Amino acid sequence: MRASLSALGIAIGVAAIVAVLGLSASSQAGLLAEIDRLGTNLLTVTNGQTLFGKTAELPTTAPAMIARIAPVTQVESTGTISANAYRSPYIPAIHTNALSVQAASLGLPAAAGTMFIDPHAHMISRTTDDYEAMARAGVVAVIEPSFWLGQPRTNLGSYVDYLSTILGFEKFRAGQFGIRHYCCIGLNPKEANNTALAEAVLEVLPHFAVKESVVALGELGYDEQTPEEDKYLRLQIDLAKEVDLPIMIHTPHRDKHRGTLRTMDVLAEHKFEPGRCVIDHNTEETVREVLDRGYFAGFSIYPHTKMGNERMTEIVRQYGPERIITDSACDWGVSDPLAVPKTAALMAERGISAAAIRQVTYDNALAVYGLSGSMKEADWLDPAPIDQRTLFQGNSVLRGGQAPRIEAPRRSMSDLRIS
Ligand SMILES: [Zn+2]
Repeated sequence: MRASLSALGIAIGVAAIVAVLGLSASSQAGLLAEIDRLGTNLLTVTNGQTLFGKTAELPTTAPAMIARIAPVTQVESTGTISANAYRSPYIPAIHTNALSVQAASLGLPAAAGTMFIDPHAHMISRTTDDYEAMARAGVVAVIEPSFWLGQPRTNLGSYVDYLSTILGFEKFRAGQFGIRHYCCIGLNPKEANNTALAEAVLEVLPHFAVKESVVALGELGYDEQTPEEDKYLRLQIDLAKEVDLPIMIHTPHRDKHRGTLRTMDVLAEHKFEPGRCVIDHNTEETVREVLDRGYFAGFSIYPHTKMGNERMTEIVRQYGPERIITDSACDWGVSDPLAVPKTAALMAERGISAAAIRQVTYDNALAVYGLSGSMKEADWLDPAPIDQRTLFQGNSVLRGGQAPRIEAPRRSMSDLRIS
């Protein structure tokens, strides 16, 4: 076994994996030590040849079998299917050899190391299925900004409980599915119009601003652009400066262009550094001025709306990836928690470079919200293992009889691939 492995160099065929399953414990340890010396934690297993020199077919049970090998933490598979891709309908089928179609399991991007941050996601409105789908698609971290619940909060108590929930239970819930969870805290513009409530919320905000997973004040800004909204926007900009946190700005849906310019004017008046601020919910109408003034420009990709991922792709093509951030804004309305990975896939299909895609779906969000000091790559590269036996104040995400997911800690990431 040892001899054949060396002969194969770094190629590990199906025979080797089948052999692993039949090996004694000491031989397995020897093989693993050998793989460790290669310095990778990502192995690609491909089919080899049969004893008669024909191409071997991996059994469909192979991924499940490999997953049972003790140090393996995740297995994803690809497979050939009979579909064909044609360069044009006029080319005969025999000429399609250059294009092949493969099926892949859903978790492939995450297992291959593709990572996304969704820096605007109202996870309190979403289900556990959404968390699972996001993790499978490669979302490693989400930022949950404080927002409007669809009907007004009538007193300070409900505000305090909401902030405590997103900072506490929601963070726990995300962690149960392997996603790191951060928050922006603030009084949203709609509720700034209830002066009694706004005054009371402003009193407690400094207390929440120092909590460990807070990465910014937000979403702040204008809704109807009333004097009350203006007053509490200004007070919160000053608070952000005082507690040394970035700001996430919500730009109004009505009269967006004027509202966006006015918000940037107010930020400038208060001498808030543009490089520490994300102006979110941009469109083609606002992006140029936002970028020109040095701000990060966020785009919330909603399905069936103007700002879908087709137009997002064109914006990145036109303006480049610098300081552009994509998010799903997924909330209680019609929205898609997979908007960021889906947009990345479309951009790749349309020829945007992998480096640019990574900037707009990962790097830029990390750069600006990382300024808080509360969000860093190590949080998800070296994560605590998922252990669904864990409770939050006695509560579990599981219901009677469901088997808890328990994962061994991941080893450090490496992109080295063996095939
Ligand atoms: Zn929002």
